[in-house]
Formats: sequence, C-alpha cells, structure tokens
Amino acid sequence: MNDINWGELSFGYMKTDYNVRSYYRNGKWSELEISDSEQVTMHIASTCLHYGQEAFEGLKAFRGKDRKIRIFRMRDNALRLQASSRGVKMAEFPVEMFERAVLEVVKRNERFVPPYESGASLYIRPLLIGTSAQVGVKPGNEYLFMVFATPVGPYFKTGFKPTPYIIIRSFDRAAPQGTGTIKIGGNYAASLAAGEIAHEKGYSAVLYLDAKEKKFIDECGPANFFGIKNNTYITPRSASILPSITNKSLMVLAEELGIRVECRPVPVEELATFEEAGACGTAAVISPVSRIDDIEEKKSYVFSSDGTPGPVCLKLYNKLRAIQYGDEEDKYGWVTVL
Ligand SMILES: *Cc1c(COP(=O)(O)O)cnc(C)c1O
Repeated sequence: MNDINWGELSFGYMKTDYNVRSYYRNGKWSELEISDSEQVTMHIASTCLHYGQEAFEGLKAFRGKDRKIRIFRMRDNALRLQASSRGVKMAEFPVEMFERAVLEVVKRNERFVPPYESGASLYIRPLLIGTSAQVGVKPGNEYLFMVFATPVGPYFKTGFKPTPYIIIRSFDRAAPQGTGTIKIGGNYAASLAAGEIAHEKGYSAVLYLDAKEKKFIDECGPANFFGIKNNTYITPRSASILPSITNKSLMVLAEELGIRVECRPVPVEELATFEEAGACGTAAVISPVSRIDDIEEKKSYVFSSDGTPGPVCLKLYNKLRAIQYGDEEDKYGWVTVL
C-alpha cells in the first residue's frame, strides 16, 4: 500500500500507477488505452516539438469526509481543451471521451487520492499534442491525448496567507489578438522569463498589464485576478485572459453570498481602491494578494499588512472548498461523484 506522507506533499510530480491515452489517426480518435509507462515515444519531427501544437488542462479530485471521490467541473475542462485545440489547429478531443478518460485515471489511481483530513487532492493533467512528422509549418494530422494524475499537497502549507505581486511592463504574457485566451504551453513559455524575475525579487508572480496600452490589469501570473470593494467582486475582462473555471465559479458563489459581480476592464489606478485582492485558479483556489508593487511608477498597493486574508476572500475560498470536498451541497451540478 501507500507510504505517502500526505501532509508533506508539495505541488509536484509523483509517479502514480496508470495514465490514459488516445491516438488521432486517419481522422479518428482511438479507444482509450491504459498505460503504466511514464514515457511517450514520438517522432523527432512531431509538430508539438517544433511548432508548439500543445494544449493542456488542470483539474482536481477530492476525497470527502464520506470517503467518496469528487471531481470538480470536468466538463468545463473538456470544453476548454476543445477551444484550445481549435486555437492551435489541433483535432478536438470529444467531451464524452475526455470525461471517461478522467474518470478512468482517477479510478485506477484511487490509492493516490489523499484522505479528507490532509487537505491535499489529486491533480489531474490532461494534455493534447501534435505528433505528425512534419518540417513545413502547417497543422499536423496526427495527435495524442493523454491524462495523468499526481497527488498534490494543500497549496497553503502555512495556512491561507497573502503574498506580494509585482507589475512588470517590459514583458507581455499574451497579445490581445494572440493566444492568451487558450490554455497552451506557448503562453507559459512566454511568461517564464518575467516570472523568474518576479521570483528572484521575492514576489509570487507578475501582475501583467494589457499588452497594447499597459493601462488595464490582465492576468496574475498563471491565474486570473480579482479585487474586492464596496461588497463587489471585480475581475478584468480583456482579449488576452484565459477563462478560469475557478474565477467563473467564484463569480457564481459571490452572487449567492450577496456580493455584486463586475467583469470589465480594470484600470491599474483602480488598484488603489480595492479593499482585498486575489489570484484564482485550480492550484490554490484563491491566493490572496498582500501587496502589489509597481516599481517603475514607485507605487505600492497594500491589501493586507498583517499577514491575514480579507473576509471576502476567506468566505469565497471556504465556500468553494466546501463544495469541492462535499461538505456543502453541490447546487450547481459542478461535482462528479465517483
Ligand atoms: C489555467 C489557467 C488559469 C486558471 O484556470 P482554472 O480553470 O481556474 O484552473 C488562469 N490563467 C491562466 C493563464 C491559466 O493557464
């Protein structure tokens, strides 16, 4: 059996028992195949290696107090992978097969789903890559879809704690008419250099501004951004933001809690008016923001100076986690119980 120290897990890769694969050839996806290998063999000229035909997803499975396993909003991830695939001209993987593949991976790696009490979860990583041997720049005609899973620790080992972010204007993650709205490796490659600068300076991530005018807030590293003021949840709308499923869920829960929701362009100066701010995504649900430093403009926006998250961030975080772990009723049909 397992000798995993669930309390010591980080957000890293650990070998699990099985992964699932499907191959696209001659215009058709193959039936799902179960593999116990961590390796992929592919042609040296595969389009994913040269021209970035690659998209991925990230979702989680949680074990409840009742010991049942719950998967959060997998259909939304299936649909988003299709949108990403269209964006880089790859074959779309059917939603129904995506859901079956995720269920299969979770079932076959059930012994890696952390216990309820640990606050850890099983991270599920579906990906789709172009495998056609090609040197000319054009979309391929062979693809490989895979799903693997790995247990990950609670994001906040030391509790739900606000951390600082930095505005850097000399890098863009994505362009307004580029690929920012789809979940592809290329966007991450474009963000690594600025991300490293932020980390070296002691920040969690870069708060990107819109690439065209540098007037509006875009994304917060690999997460969406939101601010809270006057009982309102405000999240940027732009042509280069990845539609976060966590953000979408928080907007629904905010309304349920009687908090107004605004999704609109957010000017940088508006940061000065927010009572709370956060980054959101599957990895952490919410990472509260303690402070945003705008070094070029010699400004610092402070949201938490005592190391504690704001009340709205805390309420939203607890509510979403409660649905994911099955502590609260799944009113919106977000959860698939295994
Ligand atoms: C995946 C991702 C997010 C978060 O999306 P979730 O569906 O909430 O996990 C936000 N921004 C970027 C750039 C991402 O790639």
